[in-house]
Amino acid sequence: MANISLQHLDKIYDNNVQAVYDFNLDVKDGEFIVLVGPSGCGKSTTLRMVAGLEDISKGKLLLDGKDITTAPAKDRDMAMVFQNYALYGHMTIYENMAFSLTLRKEDPNVIHKKVLAAAEILGLTDQLNKKPKQLSGGQRQRVAMGRAIVRSPKIFLFDEPLSNLDAKLRGATRREILLLHKRMNATMLYVTHDQTEALTLADRIVCMSMGHVQQVGTPLELYDTPANLFVASFIGLPPMNFFDVTVGDGELKGKYFTYKLSDAQKALLGSYKGKDIVLGVRPEDIATGGDIKVDVFSNENLGMSTLVHGSLCGAKTADAQITCKLRGWCDYRQGDGVAVQFKKVHFFDKETTNAIR
Ligand code: ADP
Repeated sequence: MANISLQHLDKIYDNNVQAVYDFNLDVKDGEFIVLVGPSGCGKSTTLRMVAGLEDISKGKLLLDGKDITTAPAKDRDMAMVFQNYALYGHMTIYENMAFSLTLRKEDPNVIHKKVLAAAEILGLTDQLNKKPKQLSGGQRQRVAMGRAIVRSPKIFLFDEPLSNLDAKLRGATRREILLLHKRMNATMLYVTHDQTEALTLADRIVCMSMGHVQQVGTPLELYDTPANLFVASFIGLPPMNFFDVTVGDGELKGKYFTYKLSDAQKALLGSYKGKDIVLGVRPEDIATGGDIKVDVFSNENLGMSTLVHGSLCGAKTADAQITCKLRGWCDYRQGDGVAVQFKKVHFFDKETTNAIR
């Protein structure tokens, strides 16, 4: 069992920078939680507070119900995997993986068994006598994970573990981490700035901005029902398109298009009549065959789909820019006109930036 509860955590650094505000999260046993957000939003600080590498300025941290808010890192029974692997260059892979257990003076026979078992899980059995510099980046990251596994920690913490790998290895290592999680049934907290990693790895995502939690939910919840403009623009690639519109009688009036409301949408927006709101539409929720006019300026073929960048009604201003992800292989040229429709849209309150639901 390993559940962890972060209760009203604040972090204020010595220079008075507040990096984290009132962070609340209950992590269930075996859950894979991903903290995601842009650089500087407070993800690593939160993870480091959990690990005991940073003091908690305010709030409480419980591990299996026990208060560990001020417990030293070494007594927390957690293992952290860092971006830069942090392997010892002069030691073999075996020695690197055994190091923390040797330090704890565990029985050498037990250490041997644990290292071999972890190497087996990670496909490193043939590499144990090599030095880190003889291994590829992906293999080194696996050794770093192996070092965490042999300790059989209650919680695994990952701080941007894939950042130093190239795109192809990142995908492969991501799948390995997922398999590792399934195989070990371990509780994991994982930090990344990459929304794809968050969507593909997490049981639940915590999306952060400027020290504040914006939304906690499953990947589908964050993608399908983003809580506010920040989450809507951060989750999903290419990002959602946003347009200012005015709520009229049964329709939304934009500068470059009119959007007809369904009965359900009319009811939802009842209290916004006459007001300005933000309409969001994901590129993949745009299809050809409508009455919204896009002037194409570039066409990117992705194989199964085509990214079409353009502007509404050919307007040159920033508020007319739009990206559509159209099905199949398209061959639009710069200057072509294409008529599109919005298949699914999201509404946001202009003042609070919260989703209107
Ligand atoms: P992220 O992991 O999301 O990139 P961090 O948690 O590293 O963000 O940083 C959050 C904020 O705290 C940033 O504004 C950063 O500059 C600041 N910060 C991080 N570490 C320190 C520190 N040791 N002292 C002062 N400010 C810090």
